[in-house]
Formats: sequence, C-alpha cells, structure tokens
Amino acid sequence: MPLKETNAPKYHDAACAYCPSTVRACRQGESAERGPGYCPSKVAQGAIDSAAAKYADPFTRKIAQESARVESEGYCRWTRVEEVCQFAKKMGFKKIGIATCISFVDQARVLSDILESHGFEVASAACKNGSVGKEEIGLKDSEKIRPGGHESMCNPVSQAELLNDAGCEFNVVLGLCVGHDSLFFQHSEGPVTTLVAKDRVLAHNPVGALMLAESYYDRVWGPDRPEKPHKLPKEGRRPN
Ligand code: SF4
Repeated sequence: MPLKETNAPKYHDAACAYCPSTVRACRQGESAERGPGYCPSKVAQGAIDSAAAKYADPFTRKIAQESARVESEGYCRWTRVEEVCQFAKKMGFKKIGIATCISFVDQARVLSDILESHGFEVASAACKNGSVGKEEIGLKDSEKIRPGGHESMCNPVSQAELLNDAGCEFNVVLGLCVGHDSLFFQHSEGPVTTLVAKDRVLAHNPVGALMLAESYYDRVWGPDRPEKPHKLPKEGRRPN
C-alpha cells in the first residue's frame, strides 16, 4: 500500500486516495483504460466483479437503487435529514431507530419529531442506556474521563439490541463515538446511516481536520509525515 507520495507506488492494493484530480477516470467509465497502476480496475478487478454479483440480492439492489435516486433527485438541494426521510420512504420502511449519543438527545428529539411528521414510527436509544459502569468492561477508575465516581459506559451493543427488538428496519446514528459506532454498525440488524459523526473539537465536522491538515490541524500527522505537501482539491470541482 503506497503511503508516501514521495515513494514509488506499489501496485498490489487499490489506492484511489492517490488518484490525481486530472484522472479519476472511473467517473467517466474509463478506469480500465485510463486508471493509474493502483486503480482497482487494474489491481483488484476480482473484488469489483464479486461486488457486482452481490447486487443480485434484492434488498442490496433496492438500497443501491433508492440511494442513487435520492442522490440524483435531491442533488445539492436536500439536507442529509431530508435525504434520510426520502430514502426511508423510497425503501418502504415503517419504523426507524435513532442511536444517539447522550449529548445529542435534544437533537434526537428533533429528529424523532421530524421522522414522525413524515409518518414513520420511531424508537430511540441513548448510548448510556442501562447505566452500566465502565468497570463492567474491565476499565480501571483511572481510565475514566472523570475518575473517582460512577461513569456509565457507552453501550452501543445494547442500543442495537434495543432497536432490533423494537423492530426498527433502518437506524440513524447521531454522534456515536469512534469505535462505539463500529459496534453499533456490527450489531444492528437493519441498515444504518450516520447523520452526525462525532468530533468534539470540530463541532462534529471531522473533515475539518483533513481540510486543514496542512495548517491549523497539522498535529494530526504521525512521525512519518510525507515530505510533499498534500494538495487540496481545487475549488469549483463537481461536488460528490
Ligand atoms: S477507481 Fe481508478 S480512476 Fe477511479 S479514483 Fe480510483 S484509481 Fe482513480
């Protein structure tokens, strides 16, 4: 896997992150012809073929179709909240779960009201549900945010179980921590989308650390920082 722009790329893993803005040929259906040496079409066509076969599954196919329709119908017009509502409607979901961080319960209420206003039934579960102490997962008192007292663990597995038991067909994550969200994704029976990705420093806009990695947030780099500065995308590019 090529990790430094100053290194010669090694062409055995897909490495789209290194694809120059002047190439990105997959958009035009030309990745096999014009993709760079590390293009998935060059180094991992088997995975692309394997993925194509999985779209034969009717539920996977429907999610792929309806999300693409939401993308085009609301392109640069619908907020993500509107996209959640429209996607859920197109999928025919009746019951939606909200897996929220305890710090986002007020926003979860707004979201719950909005979803209900569109006719959905809603269940919601906060991360601290159950009030299980962090000691139960083997944490020491010194590893708590504020040692010396009870600190409830975030319980994403329980959030998933609660929403699964409630019959939620589609779950929306609201500000779960890194790793806690991973457990929720792993244990949710229904498909999951993220409405808010928690970043306590960047007002829950984690991409800010990437946009400003060469300036205000250059502390994000590890000791092997590449010598060549990363180029930021040119303004005016077609948004994704
Ligand atoms: S799929 Fe190929 S052409 Fe598209 S971004 Fe990745 S490397 Fe570039």
